Amino acid sequence: MDQIGDSLLRLAMQHSPVGMMLVSPAGEMLAVNDAACGMLGYDRAELLRTSWQDITHPEDLASDVDVVADVLAGERSSYRLSKRYVRKDGSLLWGDLSVALLRDDDGTPLYFISQILDVSEQREAAQHIAEANATIEKQSRSVAAIYDAVDVGLVLVDRSGRYERVNRRHHDFMALAYPEGHHGMAGQRGEVYEADGETLMARQDLPSYRATMGDEFDDVRLWVGSDPATRRALSVSARSTRRPDGTLTGAALAYKDVTDYMRALAVKDEFVASVSHELRTPLTSVLGHLEMLAGREDLPADVRAQLAVVDRNAARLQMLVSDLLYVAQEADASLQVVRVAADAAGIVREAVEAARPLARAGKISLSVDLPDSRVALFDPQRLRQVVDNLLSNGIKYTDAGGEVLVRLPVDEDRLEVQVSDNGIGIAPDDLERLFSRFYRADTERVRLTPGTGLGLSIVRSITEGCGGGVRVESEVGVGSTFTAWIPYVAAGDD
Ligand code: ADP
Repeated sequence: MDQIGDSLLRLAMQHSPVGMMLVSPAGEMLAVNDAACGMLGYDRAELLRTSWQDITHPEDLASDVDVVADVLAGERSSYRLSKRYVRKDGSLLWGDLSVALLRDDDGTPLYFISQILDVSEQREAAQHIAEANATIEKQSRSVAAIYDAVDVGLVLVDRSGRYERVNRRHHDFMALAYPEGHHGMAGQRGEVYEADGETLMARQDLPSYRATMGDEFDDVRLWVGSDPATRRALSVSARSTRRPDGTLTGAALAYKDVTDYMRALAVKDEFVASVSHELRTPLTSVLGHLEMLAGREDLPADVRAQLAVVDRNAARLQMLVSDLLYVAQEADASLQVVRVAADAAGIVREAVEAARPLARAGKISLSVDLPDSRVALFDPQRLRQVVDNLLSNGIKYTDAGGEVLVRLPVDEDRLEVQVSDNGIGIAPDDLERLFSRFYRADTERVRLTPGTGLGLSIVRSITEGCGGGVRVESEVGVGSTFTAWIPYVAAGDD
């Protein structure tokens, strides 16, 4: 190499950010630059004492030796490869190596010019990405497997309501709901019926449509399909999916097959309806005969008093039977309400007195906080029924030593009865469901307490049938307060 070329090469080496080495055909280091020393962790004198074979990772040596041989044999004049070097401290350096062989005018090899770019960080990053991809792929395979294995229909919709993903189970439900095919957007009407199994569901009530609008819900019941032999009842839940900043991105819906449960409920209703129906006839006869007996003059006073007790209880039994009938046929029955002017405080007092034996047996103290009187226009029998139910629950679901308090808060617009206890309390999940027919909390304590799960549904039917309602506040282990109310109508306003 001439003088100028030589100094140019040295200058370039000196200032290059790339590691550079001049290596003899035998492998000895002839010159190295600062960048190469820095990369490999040697000082210049040390690096010059090594050969390129010394600093090459043993596993990458063979392939490098092969190409060097090719270059020396004249089969190629340069090469480029990725290889590992071993730093002085034993750590690995990934280098992107470019090598050219310089020959003299006769073609005799003079030296190799090697340039090494440190690509360790990129390799590491690429490695991380590959590992992360492998993990993601593994997870998504597991999710896909679970998605298709579960016995629940699953649907993911995007912000616009487009079905992004539907699992295998849900395809069965879709086939029933959309025998003509589904166009992949939420809100398509098909053979989807309300819980009554008859009313076609309106678009805005369809779970997929509601979920797309950002609604979250649980246990929305519906039927898919019109053929009684194959149709299925589903219970649907929805949750919105959102970005970390809260923007809605879509929703996930789960469809659970509850056909057997719904059919069992219907059978139960039919059973209750027919039993109560069958009970009505003999009861009517009992009441009829009691009435005839009451008309007789020749009965001793004590018999007359006993007959009055029998009559009262038979009348209550008749009302309970008709309530059973009412709840069993809730859809098409309507509550009979007979409004008269009466004193609510007096009725509550009577109910409390009637409950005393039960409270005494359970070692529960029963107290009242009532005005002297609260006269209004309402159905006294229905109010009594409501108070009886709430009172007996308060006593039943409170352990010995507890207290039950009945209040009649004075409110201008409402006739309100409040029954509080410091009993077992109710889990948050149960709070709404308690008012459903036959629902009982699934705990050992409740199972051991006699009951049908009808009381609160009757309380709700009655209060709602009178334009009011019932609500509960409760905490497990602390107690419960049930508040039943109907609109207050002053006596004489009707
Ligand atoms: P029943 O008492 O016959 O089971 P209800 O309809 O009156 O039926 O009540 C339904 C369920 O609500 C009960 O089984 C019980 O789990 C719960 N419950 C009702 N009242 C109370 C209360 N005061 N404290 C705790 N749990 C209650």
